Amino acid sequence: MRKLILSLFLLAATFASAQQYDLVLEGGRVMDPETGLDAIRNVGVRDGKIARISSEPLTARRTVHAAGLVVAPGFIDLHQHAQDLASQRVKAFDGVTTALEMEIGAPDVTQFLKAKEGRSLIHYGTAASYVAARSLVFGAPLPAGTILPKTGPATDQHATPEQIAAILQRLCTELDAGGLAIGMGIQYTPGATRSEVLDIFHLAAERRLPVYTHIRSAGRVEPGSSIESISEVIGAAAITGASLHIVHVNSSCLRDSLECLSMVEGARARGLDVTTEAYPYIAGMTAVNSAVFSPGWQERMGITYSDLLLPETGERLTKERFDELHNSTIEHWVVVFGNSQEIVDKVIPNPLVMIASDGAEGHPRNAGTYSRVLAQYVREKQTITLMNALRKMSFMPAEMLERSTPAARQKGRLQEGADADIVVFDPATITDRATFDKPMEPSTGVHFLVVAGTILIDEGKIVPNVFPGQALLGPGKLSATHN
Ligand SMILES: [Zn+2]
Repeated sequence: MRKLILSLFLLAATFASAQQYDLVLEGGRVMDPETGLDAIRNVGVRDGKIARISSEPLTARRTVHAAGLVVAPGFIDLHQHAQDLASQRVKAFDGVTTALEMEIGAPDVTQFLKAKEGRSLIHYGTAASYVAARSLVFGAPLPAGTILPKTGPATDQHATPEQIAAILQRLCTELDAGGLAIGMGIQYTPGATRSEVLDIFHLAAERRLPVYTHIRSAGRVEPGSSIESISEVIGAAAITGASLHIVHVNSSCLRDSLECLSMVEGARARGLDVTTEAYPYIAGMTAVNSAVFSPGWQERMGITYSDLLLPETGERLTKERFDELHNSTIEHWVVVFGNSQEIVDKVIPNPLVMIASDGAEGHPRNAGTYSRVLAQYVREKQTITLMNALRKMSFMPAEMLERSTPAARQKGRLQEGADADIVVFDPATITDRATFDKPMEPSTGVHFLVVAGTILIDEGKIVPNVFPGQALLGPGKLSATHN
């Protein structure tokens, strides 16, 4: 009798709770890279969280039929420069639910967060920008809307001890404003001495936050090779104890990408917290008036003028055009064809490599990175399993992000209690469509995208006038709000 009452009670409880879901994703192939779950399940979403994952039927105000589709954690892009709505829209079609500016960082964290509050399609956040802090201290603040300094005294000169103190002070302010890490584009400030780099890493270690870095140089010319540049930042991590994330190993190490990966592997084997990422394209992109193109760039990177493409006009550069753009105070970004397909194809499947887009308008990686991995490496070349691809695109970046905020523990997972940031896609058809000619073509194959429990892509179409994206904040801001 008692058993019967208990069963009746449980049955009633089940019915009551079943009615409470805001959304159910029904009958999809639910994949969670942390636990390895890969099974047909129903997913119940309530109050922005994944409330239930079950083989039992669940009912809700809205039921989405996901049979034949993969239901996975929304992708987390640690490296996204363009933060405007047009870029967020193409990111959403690429399966991305969180896109953070961690490599360089927004020049002003407070302004960045304020501008996005209530107006963001997907989750956002930023590192504190070392290059912006340095420019500011040198009296050459970055022009509005730009993130990289034009080459000049602020990028090329050594800083005095007073200037370094002021840079550190500015970075502290930015971390207190909610910066998730220190973003350090060392190649954009070649005047930074090794000692200055160590000072910045020391600050990160003190604040228990990671350094995301674009290393000092790329190529094989010594001194200043990719190998030397990786050694510099791994050394700084070892000396200071700061966690280190090396961005786009593909474009910073080019032909030596595999050697650079083995260096990361070696550092990790000796207990250092060093991680890395890549994007699946043979070209990079950056500001043509930045220090990346200071004299000697052809020899360093093994490329020439015609390897540079100006997306605004579609032209390949000549010496004359390059000089004009390089000397301009207006920031033009150029696509840089500097890598080979063979290298990229070896880098992307490497188990140490997370996927991150380095997205900015003008390069197809902004819109196509994640679908391209699923189409080319999972489906066509079959060099990555679907689960491992999901791991590289959601769980690994979430784990990296846990070094910056405990909120990341609820991301990158398709588990009960996790944030309802979910991508529902067709693994048989998902495809990137952005090209170097048409870099903003959205990917196809994402049927539904759920951001914090809100449907942003519904039956393959973006839902107008919803802005479910929320800020991810570093501990400086979290402790400030708790005071
Ligand atoms: Zn970079």
